[in-house]
Amino acid sequence: MPPVVGVLALQGDVREHCAALRSVGADPVPVRRPSELDALDAVVLPGGESTTIDKLLRAFGMFVPLRDRLRDGMPAYGSCAGMVLLADRLLGGTADQQTLGGMDITVRRNAFGRQVDSFETDLHVDGLDGGPVHAVFIRAPWVEQAGPGATVLARVEDGPAAGRIVAVRQQTLLVTAFHPEVTGDDRVHRLFVDIVRGNR
Ligand code: GLN
Repeated sequence: MPPVVGVLALQGDVREHCAALRSVGADPVPVRRPSELDALDAVVLPGGESTTIDKLLRAFGMFVPLRDRLRDGMPAYGSCAGMVLLADRLLGGTADQQTLGGMDITVRRNAFGRQVDSFETDLHVDGLDGGPVHAVFIRAPWVEQAGPGATVLARVEDGPAAGRIVAVRQQTLLVTAFHPEVTGDDRVHRLFVDIVRGNR
């Protein structure tokens, strides 16, 4: 049976994540309600606006049940705003912004600043064969600090942000500051689904 991977469908590029997950052999399902969490083997938290997703999670009664599933060890992949949501510590959030947490990282929202608001670059991601990944950053966060339990998989390689951490894994949690779902390169989703298969 293919693993059932929920894609949080409150906001963001849900369709693209579903397509990427399907292409690597998972069974993607858009998720909006707490009751839909029960059937999932794993979840993807897409990009969008983390403050809005946080508010919608709370409005839909999803915040606590999703946080509890994550605490119980459900694998999760967060891209961009999804990375913000999975961070234990947040810099540059709004006053009432909460994160689901789970990953021992400090994330800075909108970290790349106005001049380089959105950009694309090639970078090497540990654990992905086949050469560099073309990474698309859209008003992206970066990981300011990764704790001892978290493994850094990628850093920006050139330009003013060189050295900044943009992909991290901690056991069955994976985050990227960039959006692999928009490039047609499904290697990050393949890595995640391999993690999910290993967890079952
Ligand atoms: N800037 C957004 C936030 O803080 C993230 C942008 C994105 O997901 N593309 O949530």
